[in-house]
Amino acid sequence: MATSAEVTARAPAKVNLELVVGALRPDGYHDLATVFQAVALADDVTARPARDEASDDVTVTVSGPQAAAVPLDGSNLAVRAARLLAAHTGLDARVHLHIHKEIPVAGGMAGGSADAAAALVACDALWGTGLSRDELRALAAELGSDVPFSLLGGTAVGTGRGERLTPALARGDHHWVIALAARGLPTPAVYRELDRLRGRRVLPEPRVSDRLMQALRSGNAEALGAALANDLQPAACSLAPELERTLALGASCGALGGIVAGSGPTVAFLVRGPEQAMDLSVSLAASGQVGDVRRTHGPVPGARIVEPGRG
Ligand code: ATP
Repeated sequence: MATSAEVTARAPAKVNLELVVGALRPDGYHDLATVFQAVALADDVTARPARDEASDDVTVTVSGPQAAAVPLDGSNLAVRAARLLAAHTGLDARVHLHIHKEIPVAGGMAGGSADAAAALVACDALWGTGLSRDELRALAAELGSDVPFSLLGGTAVGTGRGERLTPALARGDHHWVIALAARGLPTPAVYRELDRLRGRRVLPEPRVSDRLMQALRSGNAEALGAALANDLQPAACSLAPELERTLALGASCGALGGIVAGSGPTVAFLVRGPEQAMDLSVSLAASGQVGDVRRTHGPVPGARIVEPGRG
């Protein structure tokens, strides 16, 4: 791998099948218990040696439907990932990253985290660092709480801030319809709204429900649809009331379950299969209530090397 001219890695978006948010901690974070599922909606990050020999840094370009919303400076999570890997290994960081972005930006599907995970995997292969998967996982956790899951993929339980992962026993391939909102919803604002709505309520230690874990083990899509849960949903709906209408539309079209994805404003619907996915997509698009609609499925693997341009 170290000798190849460029390496492309693909990393998946995630849906939180359940998101249980604990009390606000003194450090400003919340303890979480969540179940992630990686879905086929994914970004590709291609790493190639920088052409400009004088450059001593990481550069980035972005293509895809929402490319304009992605920062091109040092705040880009893929750039931060490449720099962290270079600093950790002592290798020359001169690299150009190209992100082909399919994951909605600021949609609660961890698109930036996916790019960080894909950049770690691509640069690791390009530079032939020889790091173990555990070392890559530790770097991922430094970059953000959702990055380790983007690396792992599949279906997994996350605790702490979501970065402590245990793969979950899950059967079956699940079909999702993703309704993108016309506007973004900043994650910190949604957590603030949740704290406001909860007031001084004393909260138990967050833990995922037996009902959801049982539905995953059985592979029963109806049971899974009924068990989907997200503590952030009332807060997201309070800030963006149109989400309630989108959820109601999915339910009236027979979706097995609907949930605000992470902190929103994307809504994910679990459906029976490709045919129902197509019907629901048409209804959502025709409603004029949503920005865009995607069909996908999961679980899929975490960040991995692919042939460039592969569909
Ligand atoms: P999460 O679900 O982890 O809260 P999200 O999916 O809601 O995240 P992202 O798409 O990851 O949101 O982006 C949030 C913000 O991060 C963007 O508004 C953007 O400014 C910044 N950002 C940094 N790097 C990237 C990247 N590679 N792709 C997208 N956004 C990025």
